[in-house]
Amino acid sequence: QRDQLTGLPNRWAFEQQFSAATIRAKERFEPLSVAFIDIDHFKQVNDTHGHEAGDRVLQLVAKTLDGFTRGNCHLARHGGEEFVIVLENTTTAEAKKQIDAVREDLAERSLVNKENGEPIGRITFSAGVAPFIPGEANRQVLRNADAALYEAKNTGRNQVLIYHGG
Ligand code: GH3
Ligand code: MG
Ligand code: MG
Repeated sequence: QRDQLTGLPNRWAFEQQFSAATIRAKERFEPLSVAFIDIDHFKQVNDTHGHEAGDRVLQLVAKTLDGFTRGNCHLARHGGEEFVIVLENTTTAEAKKQIDAVREDLAERSLVNKENGEPIGRITFSAGVAPFIPGEANRQVLRNADAALYEAKNTGRNQVLIYHGG
Protein backbone atom coordinates (compact mmCIF):
# COMPACT_ATOMS: atom_id res chain seq x y z
CA GLN A 1 0.00 0.00 0.00
CA ARG A 2 3.03 2.25 0.25
CA ASP A 3 5.31 3.64 -2.40
CA GLN A 4 8.92 2.62 -1.72
CA LEU A 5 10.63 5.80 -2.90
CA THR A 6 8.52 8.45 -1.16
CA GLY A 7 6.94 6.46 1.66
CA LEU A 8 3.55 7.86 0.60
CA PRO A 9 0.45 5.73 0.09
CA ASN A 10 0.42 4.31 -3.43
CA ARG A 11 -2.24 4.44 -6.10
CA TRP A 12 -4.04 1.41 -4.76
CA ALA A 13 -4.28 2.97 -1.28
CA PHE A 14 -5.51 6.18 -2.88
CA GLU A 15 -8.35 4.37 -4.65
CA GLN A 16 -9.50 2.98 -1.28
CA GLN A 17 -9.24 6.38 0.43
CA PHE A 18 -11.09 8.11 -2.36
CA SER A 19 -13.92 5.58 -2.35
CA ALA A 20 -14.35 5.88 1.40
CA ALA A 21 -14.20 9.68 1.21
CA THR A 22 -16.98 9.84 -1.41
CA ILE A 23 -19.24 7.80 0.87
CA ARG A 24 -18.54 10.11 3.83
CA ALA A 25 -19.12 13.21 1.67
CA LYS A 26 -22.54 11.90 0.62
CA GLU A 27 -23.52 10.97 4.18
CA ARG A 28 -22.46 14.33 5.60
CA PHE A 29 -23.46 16.55 2.67
CA GLU A 30 -19.91 17.87 2.59
CA PRO A 31 -17.87 19.07 -0.39
CA LEU A 32 -15.02 16.84 -1.57
CA SER A 33 -12.23 17.75 -3.95
CA VAL A 34 -9.58 15.77 -5.79
CA ALA A 35 -6.33 17.22 -7.09
CA PHE A 36 -3.82 15.78 -9.52
CA ILE A 37 -0.33 17.21 -9.26
CA ASP A 38 2.39 16.69 -11.86
CA ILE A 39 5.96 18.01 -11.69
CA ASP A 40 6.85 20.37 -14.55
CA HIS A 41 9.57 19.35 -17.02
CA PHE A 42 10.70 16.58 -14.74
CA LYS A 43 12.27 14.61 -17.57
CA GLN A 44 14.80 17.43 -17.89
CA VAL A 45 15.90 16.91 -14.28
CA ASN A 46 16.63 13.25 -15.01
CA ASP A 47 18.30 14.03 -18.31
CA THR A 48 20.51 16.75 -16.86
CA HIS A 49 21.25 15.46 -13.37
CA GLY A 50 20.61 11.73 -13.55
CA HIS A 51 17.91 9.42 -12.29
CA GLU A 52 19.20 9.37 -8.69
CA ALA A 53 19.00 13.15 -8.41
CA GLY A 54 15.53 12.86 -9.95
CA ASP A 55 14.60 10.40 -7.23
CA ARG A 56 15.73 12.83 -4.54
CA VAL A 57 13.68 15.61 -6.13
CA LEU A 58 10.64 13.31 -6.06
CA GLN A 59 11.28 12.65 -2.37
CA LEU A 60 11.53 16.37 -1.68
CA VAL A 61 8.30 17.15 -3.52
CA ALA A 62 6.54 14.34 -1.64
CA LYS A 63 7.82 15.67 1.68
CA THR A 64 6.83 19.23 0.83
CA LEU A 65 3.30 18.17 -0.17
CA ASP A 66 3.03 16.03 2.95
CA GLY A 67 4.05 18.94 5.16
CA PHE A 68 1.18 21.01 3.82
CA THR A 69 -1.60 18.46 3.86
CA ARG A 70 -4.04 18.76 6.72
CA GLY A 71 -5.84 16.06 8.66
CA ASN A 72 -8.71 15.91 6.19
CA CYS A 73 -6.40 15.35 3.20
CA HIS A 74 -5.12 12.09 1.76
CA LEU A 75 -1.95 12.41 -0.27
CA ALA A 76 -0.64 9.59 -2.47
CA ARG A 77 1.88 8.97 -5.22
CA HIS A 78 -0.27 8.20 -8.21
CA GLY A 79 2.68 7.04 -10.29
CA GLY A 80 5.79 8.47 -11.92
CA GLU A 81 6.09 12.14 -11.02
CA GLU A 82 2.38 12.50 -10.36
CA PHE A 83 0.67 12.88 -6.99
CA VAL A 84 -2.97 12.94 -6.00
CA ILE A 85 -4.74 14.51 -3.03
CA VAL A 86 -8.25 13.81 -1.78
CA LEU A 87 -9.44 16.81 0.24
CA GLU A 88 -12.41 16.06 2.45
CA ASN A 89 -14.88 18.76 3.47
CA THR A 90 -13.05 21.10 1.10
CA THR A 91 -14.42 23.07 -1.84
CA THR A 92 -12.41 23.31 -5.06
CA ALA A 93 -11.66 26.98 -4.30
CA GLU A 94 -10.26 26.04 -0.87
CA ALA A 95 -8.32 23.14 -2.40
CA LYS A 96 -6.77 25.44 -4.98
CA LYS A 97 -5.74 27.86 -2.25
CA GLN A 98 -4.08 25.12 -0.20
CA ILE A 99 -2.23 23.66 -3.16
CA ASP A 100 -1.17 27.08 -4.40
CA ALA A 101 0.50 27.63 -1.04
CA VAL A 102 2.64 24.48 -1.43
CA ARG A 103 3.33 25.34 -5.04
CA GLU A 104 4.65 28.77 -4.07
CA ASP A 105 6.70 27.34 -1.22
CA LEU A 106 8.38 24.84 -3.52
CA ALA A 107 8.88 27.28 -6.40
CA GLU A 108 10.72 29.71 -4.11
CA ARG A 109 13.51 27.25 -3.41
CA SER A 110 16.58 26.76 -5.52
CA LEU A 111 17.77 23.17 -5.39
CA VAL A 112 21.32 21.88 -5.52
CA ASN A 113 22.42 18.35 -6.41
CA LYS A 114 24.03 17.20 -3.16
CA GLU A 115 26.19 14.67 -5.01
CA ASN A 116 28.21 17.24 -6.94
CA GLY A 117 27.02 20.69 -5.88
CA GLU A 118 25.53 21.43 -9.29
CA PRO A 119 22.49 23.72 -9.28
CA ILE A 120 19.23 22.00 -10.20
CA GLY A 121 17.35 25.25 -9.85
CA ARG A 122 13.66 25.67 -9.25
CA ILE A 123 11.16 22.86 -9.34
CA THR A 124 7.53 23.65 -10.05
CA PHE A 125 4.39 21.62 -10.51
CA SER A 126 1.02 22.01 -12.18
CA ALA A 127 -2.24 20.81 -10.67
CA GLY A 128 -5.85 20.22 -11.63
CA VAL A 129 -8.67 20.26 -9.09
CA ALA A 130 -12.16 18.80 -9.55
CA PRO A 131 -15.17 18.48 -7.26
CA PHE A 132 -16.83 15.20 -6.36
CA ILE A 133 -20.44 15.50 -7.42
CA PRO A 134 -22.78 12.90 -5.85
CA GLY A 135 -24.21 10.70 -8.57
CA GLU A 136 -21.18 11.10 -10.79
CA ALA A 137 -18.86 8.09 -11.16
CA ASN A 138 -15.65 8.30 -9.13
CA ARG A 139 -13.72 7.72 -12.34
CA GLN A 140 -15.29 10.80 -13.87
CA VAL A 141 -14.04 13.00 -11.01
CA LEU A 142 -10.50 11.78 -11.69
CA ARG A 143 -10.91 12.41 -15.41
CA ASN A 144 -12.09 15.95 -14.65
CA ALA A 145 -9.12 16.65 -12.37
CA ASP A 146 -6.85 15.27 -15.08
CA ALA A 147 -8.48 17.54 -17.69
CA ALA A 148 -7.82 20.57 -15.47
CA LEU A 149 -4.20 19.43 -15.02
CA TYR A 150 -3.85 19.12 -18.78
CA GLU A 151 -5.17 22.66 -19.14
CA ALA A 152 -2.70 23.88 -16.49
CA LYS A 153 0.15 22.28 -18.46
CA ASN A 154 -0.99 23.80 -21.72
CA THR A 155 -1.41 27.32 -20.40
CA GLY A 156 1.96 27.91 -18.82
CA ARG A 157 2.51 25.31 -16.05
CA ASN A 158 3.35 26.23 -12.42
CA GLN A 159 -0.34 26.84 -11.68
CA VAL A 160 -3.40 25.20 -10.14
CA LEU A 161 -6.57 25.14 -12.24
CA ILE A 162 -10.09 24.17 -11.24
CA TYR A 163 -12.21 22.03 -13.57
CA HIS A 164 -15.14 24.01 -14.92
CA GLY A 165 -17.02 21.49 -17.05
CA GLY A 166 -17.02 21.18 -20.78
P1 GH3 B 1 5.51 18.02 -18.11
O1 GH3 B 1 5.85 19.40 -17.60
O2 GH3 B 1 4.70 18.08 -19.35
O3 GH3 B 1 4.88 17.18 -17.07
O4 GH3 B 1 6.91 17.38 -18.52
P2 GH3 B 1 7.67 16.17 -17.83
O5 GH3 B 1 9.06 16.14 -18.35
O6 GH3 B 1 7.53 16.27 -16.34
O7 GH3 B 1 6.77 14.94 -18.29
P3 GH3 B 1 7.12 13.57 -18.95
O8 GH3 B 1 5.87 12.75 -18.73
O9 GH3 B 1 7.61 13.76 -20.33
O10 GH3 B 1 8.27 12.98 -18.10
C1 GH3 B 1 8.07 12.44 -16.85
C2 GH3 B 1 9.39 11.87 -16.41
O11 GH3 B 1 9.33 11.39 -15.08
C3 GH3 B 1 9.86 10.73 -17.27
C4 GH3 B 1 10.29 9.67 -16.28
O12 GH3 B 1 11.56 9.17 -16.57
C5 GH3 B 1 10.32 10.39 -14.96
N1 GH3 B 1 10.03 9.53 -13.81
C6 GH3 B 1 8.89 8.86 -13.55
N2 GH3 B 1 9.02 8.15 -12.40
C7 GH3 B 1 10.27 8.40 -11.94
C8 GH3 B 1 11.00 7.95 -10.79
O13 GH3 B 1 10.52 7.18 -9.95
N3 GH3 B 1 12.28 8.43 -10.63
C9 GH3 B 1 12.83 9.30 -11.53
N4 GH3 B 1 14.08 9.71 -11.30
N5 GH3 B 1 12.18 9.71 -12.63
C10 GH3 B 1 10.92 9.28 -12.83
MG1 MG C 1 3.55 13.05 -15.75
MG1 MG D 1 5.59 16.12 -15.45
